[in-house]
Amino acid sequence: MLKNKNGIIFGVANKRSIAWATAQALHGAGARLAFTYQGERLKENVEGLTADSMPGSLLLSCDVTNQDEVDQTFKLVGKEFGRLDFLIHSIAFAPREALDGEYLDTSREAFLKALEISAYSLPQLARAAAPLMTDGGSIVCMSYYGAEKVVAGYNVMGVAKAALESSTRYLANDLGPRNIRVNAISAGPIQTLSARGVSDFSTMLKHHAARAPLRRNVAASEVGNTALFLCSSMSSGITGEVIYVDCGYNVMGV
Ligand code: NAP
Repeated sequence: MLKNKNGIIFGVANKRSIAWATAQALHGAGARLAFTYQGERLKENVEGLTADSMPGSLLLSCDVTNQDEVDQTFKLVGKEFGRLDFLIHSIAFAPREALDGEYLDTSREAFLKALEISAYSLPQLARAAAPLMTDGGSIVCMSYYGAEKVVAGYNVMGVAKAALESSTRYLANDLGPRNIRVNAISAGPIQTLSARGVSDFSTMLKHHAARAPLRRNVAASEVGNTALFLCSSMSSGITGEVIYVDCGYNVMGV
């Protein structure tokens, strides 16, 4: 499905990362992949994951708060791949203290940091990727239901996800004339490194599994498969959307 297609994936921290499940789906469909990791700390993880199953992948260090690293990343991707067909944005961050207690108490620093890394990075990366998407393209980011409804403890991250989802729509309009599609996946809760930062995450998992129509939690591979759909021509008429991959949780009322 993605033979002769090139993509870049932001956000593989370890084997539990949604980005890694997405990489497996995309690689399985024949895509050639570049991975970015944040600092040398995570380099070994990404090297270890890709060494056996995806040799020849391009691995690049990129902290989105450092514009020089972003510029360098896309320069190298352009040099190595020539053309880029898709970008997976699977990164988010909020200071630990902002994910506890009341949203009311969010500090200016925590708000700006969370919004910078989790939301501003989408237009930032889209702007850098678009010139390489010379044959059209697909950009996919990861959101959560806390963007639209209050989820206790999600706090500033919910506000950042609302900005991310809105950015998805504005970018879809900007990039549509270049046949570049931009979509968000709203994933149900999945046990990952980032998820551990959300207070009482295990209660959230139990609650979702009990209330979702499918009566279970979603698997990262199901999110990865949806990202594959969004990166393939099968979804050629879809842009600016938030697609729920949450076992149906969001449709429930009482
Ligand atoms: P994860 O494995 O911890 O991935 C988050 C990634 O963001 C990590 O690779 C992290 O790197 C990276 N990141 C943080 N700050 C960065 C920066 N300044 N520059 C570049 N990368 C940075 O957790 P995940 O759950 O798979 O999260 C992936 C995405 O899915 C996030 O957008 C998250 O909000 C979203 N999501 C998650 C869930 C869930 O329940 N897990 C549900 C819905 C949506 P470091 O480890 O170095 O910080």
